[in-house]
Amino acid sequence: MADQPDPGVVIASEPRRIGVLGGTFDPVHIGHLRGALEVAESLGLDELRLTPNARPPHRDTPQVSAQDRLAMVECAVVGVAPLVVDARELQRDKPSYTIDTLELMRAELAAHDQVFLLLGWDAFCGLPTWHRWEELLQHCHILVLQRPDADSEPPDALRNLLAARSVSDPLALKGPSGQIAFVWQTPLAVSATQIRQLLASGKSVRFLVPDAVLAYIDAHGLYRAPN
Ligand code: ATP
Repeated sequence: MADQPDPGVVIASEPRRIGVLGGTFDPVHIGHLRGALEVAESLGLDELRLTPNARPPHRDTPQVSAQDRLAMVECAVVGVAPLVVDARELQRDKPSYTIDTLELMRAELAAHDQVFLLLGWDAFCGLPTWHRWEELLQHCHILVLQRPDADSEPPDALRNLLAARSVSDPLALKGPSGQIAFVWQTPLAVSATQIRQLLASGKSVRFLVPDAVLAYIDAHGLYRAPN
């Protein structure tokens, strides 16, 4: 007869691998989604959380509320595992810092779960201006999304950090947090700015956003110039 597990022994689960991609997603488009899916597949992530950011009210285009941005991201990921939406930054009444979001996520995860924060190169270079940025690596690894043709130099403030914490292979990131790796990826040439401009000038954004997002934009008359 096979041995029965001792009920007094807690069997540790495999570490989960969770990616986090923040953005304004105004609106979400195929650049975000394709990039996120490629990272999730190449790193074998269990979940990649698209996390819409709250924005100061004066920056919101009047007709596009945070609820609309969230609804569009939700439409976009239906049936696209492992992409999921994490709405927590919109559920607070003030813009939240990434460090706050990571702390809240960490509190819900097992200590050995791995968290990967995805940042474009530009965002990564701006890291020293972020609130409590030096604590970020206590909660996550950082994946810097870099273009294969880029030859940018990091700012001085990040040189020591990169020397101490970067590993060359993203698949070699070990443990729950603490290291930095580069993911080389050619982004699709699409931006939310371009999509807003096309819509405002009465043009189509078909094939730049998923059909479900386009249907939502049309149904709610988003981004169109008033008649
Ligand atoms: P905007 O044009 O309004 O500035 P955006 O298209 O750059 O918006 P964001 O919501 O600011 O979109 O981006 C969220 C994240 O997605 C950022 O980390 C950004 O680097 C990344 N991202 C944006 N566009 C692309 C793209 N075409 N391919 C891959 N990643 C992208």
